Amino acid sequence: MIDVIRTRAELIRVRESLIAPWGFVPTMGNLHAGHISLLLEAHQDFDIAFFSIFVNPKQFGPSEDFQKYPRTLEQDLERIQASLAPGKRVIVFAPSSVEEIYPADDRDIFSVLHVTEEFEGALRPGHFNGVATVVYKLFDLVKPSKAYFGLKDYQQFLVIKQLVKDLCLPIEIVGMPIVREESGLAMSSRNQYLSPEQKAEGLTLSQTLYRVRDLINQNRENLPQAQTYIASVLKDPRWNYLELRDAETLSKDLRHSRRLTLLGVFQLGTTRLLDNLQLELR
Ligand code: AMP
Repeated sequence: MIDVIRTRAELIRVRESLIAPWGFVPTMGNLHAGHISLLLEAHQDFDIAFFSIFVNPKQFGPSEDFQKYPRTLEQDLERIQASLAPGKRVIVFAPSSVEEIYPADDRDIFSVLHVTEEFEGALRPGHFNGVATVVYKLFDLVKPSKAYFGLKDYQQFLVIKQLVKDLCLPIEIVGMPIVREESGLAMSSRNQYLSPEQKAEGLTLSQTLYRVRDLINQNRENLPQAQTYIASVLKDPRWNYLELRDAETLSKDLRHSRRLTLLGVFQLGTTRLLDNLQLELR
């Protein structure tokens, strides 16, 4: 069963009528299999899942693609409907206007420190404040027991975990694996901005990540060799960054790290492709 809600007031009314706990998947819509994997996981845990579709203006910079970001509500609802298992209910919250989330005279509320300073935080000033603010507002409206995020946006995942910890919110944050196309390209709503040639070029990103993973081969002693390889790769100016960091803290100091993340952004024209791999050291 699918319900579609367009206003905050209606969302609160429906939420207050529920008894059993529920999960929550926040998205910006233009759904692909990555988004649907989050919904399926929520429905593994609960019979009821909230699913929001809202293109959040506050997380876009002035020169970014807020206006042209694909808005495909009808198609998204069909996709959700097609993924529903019997007995499961999804409550889609697709605010009818930006004002449903941000009153006309609102101010930025949240900034999460610590994990936001580098990478996307440095290259997209204000981006994570926008993400933290909308996610906090949605959490407060939906009041889920668990919320599901893709590890595709790994730094965002850490920001949300930090937000929940800082504010002592009673919500468990679940990180789900990256869903990829057969070619290895991580699925993203922004992939449709790529020409067929750029899509082929974009494979450099996942292929490089896998190459570094193979070089390290879970062995700490191979890290210097991997770092040398990364340095040679970065001579190509299409890379915004490619770095190995501690998976929990994003620290550069890997001496005591058991879990690493390899974060990469590869830019084709104005489209920035984000990807990462989680690596373990034995
Ligand atoms: P977005 O609509 O881009 O804001 O993404 C909504 C959620 O879907 C976020 O938690 C993303 O990390 C997640 N997501 C996006 N692409 C993928 C993917 N390829 N695999 C898994 N999760 C994804």
